[in-house]
Amino acid sequence: MTLRIVLFGPPAAGKGTQAQRLVERFGLVHVSTGDILRRAIKEGTQLGLQAQRYMDQGKLVPDDIVMGLVKSVLRDNVQEQGFVFDGYPRTVTQAQNLDELLGRQRAIVAVLSLEVDREKLVARISERRVLEQRKDDSLEAVGVRLDAFHAQTLPLKQYYAAKGLLIEVDGTGSPEEVFSRIVSKIS
Ligand code: AMP
Repeated sequence: MTLRIVLFGPPAAGKGTQAQRLVERFGLVHVSTGDILRRAIKEGTQLGLQAQRYMDQGKLVPDDIVMGLVKSVLRDNVQEQGFVFDGYPRTVTQAQNLDELLGRQRAIVAVLSLEVDREKLVARISERRVLEQRKDDSLEAVGVRLDAFHAQTLPLKQYYAAKGLLIEVDGTGSPEEVFSRIVSKIS
């Protein structure tokens, strides 16, 4: 079976780290809208300029912008041997659009939800703030990001659960521990 996976979870749940491991183990194409947007900001493109004001405040970038991005990534990877979507979709509209773009032939086979409580997330983000110096890891932006997750992204769990795709994974512990839980759930 071709692995087309969504890694789902709040900010700092470990999606990026686990996506990287899935890429290395299973040869998947990594689709991180956060990485694409950060690159666009660095390069000073039109897309970057549009996205930056939302990202710096910790708000979600509007659906039409990110849906356009993902559409072009899918178009560039028609022969892929699997995808791991990391930080995408983040709204029900994005999820519906992704289903349409992938069609039945390339449908998502599992949605792995990394479960980490809010207290641990805030602690992880504080550590990352020192290491990576991301503007959206500032205290104000973190609150906005966690609220955006609850209000806009969490309803997706229900969307995927109704399709029988949702798999919850304990996201606490070391990256190795989390990865072995993921592998045992998907194999
Ligand atoms: P991430 O690296 O996935 O945490 O994303 C960092 C920021 O990029 C988010 O806080 C949003 O501002 C923006 N972003 C990334 N992915 C999306 C998405 N699927 N929908 C809307 N905004 C996004």
